[in-house]
Amino acid sequence: MAVTKQVDDVRILEAIDAGVDLFGENYIQEAKRKFEITGNRVEWHFIGHLQRNKAKYAVRFIEMIHSLDRFELAVEIDRRAGIEGRVMKVLVEVNIAGESSKSGVTAEELPELIRRVASLANLSVRGLMTMPPWFSDPEDARPFFRKLRSLRDRIEKEGIPGVGMEELSMGMSNDYVVAVEEGATIVRVGRAIFGERV
Ligand SMILES: *Cc1c(COP(=O)(O)O)cnc(C)c1O
Repeated sequence: MAVTKQVDDVRILEAIDAGVDLFGENYIQEAKRKFEITGNRVEWHFIGHLQRNKAKYAVRFIEMIHSLDRFELAVEIDRRAGIEGRVMKVLVEVNIAGESSKSGVTAEELPELIRRVASLANLSVRGLMTMPPWFSDPEDARPFFRKLRSLRDRIEKEGIPGVGMEELSMGMSNDYVVAVEEGATIVRVGRAIFGERV
């Protein structure tokens, strides 16, 4: 996924010409504006913190939300997706190192949240997302990626009806190689594609 925060429209269109077909944004208004420029020929995923009152916008054009982190948000996404007549794909965000600065559920809270949201008909859990602590040496992030994968395996074994665990969204510009080695299915890369944000 090419992450487009602070990336201008011209460069997004250049990325499409170069073959990119999946984009991610942190802010819903920005995502919506950029979606109107690219249209349906590419997919937009939402990767930022989602406020409950923004769920109604997300369900109109976002293909997958990577940042489900609380039951109340799931209920609102489900309700709004129902109004749009669609099933919204979501990943549950895990705060893998328990950092107070980051959103996401803890590893301990994860199974319970997934069991609760599994009953929501217009929302479909497809996997997990995480953002490990920042390290100058990406090797140091490896244990956290490994931990997310093992959580995925554990949830998968529970065989909760309606819950899929095929996606592992992990890895950014500085550590995506290690993330892929540890089983990432989606890497979220901004700076390594578009250059440093200014
Ligand atoms: C900004 C961002 C990225 C991309 O980070 P880079 O370091 O630019 O690759 C990935 N995931 C999330 C959630 C982000 O906010």
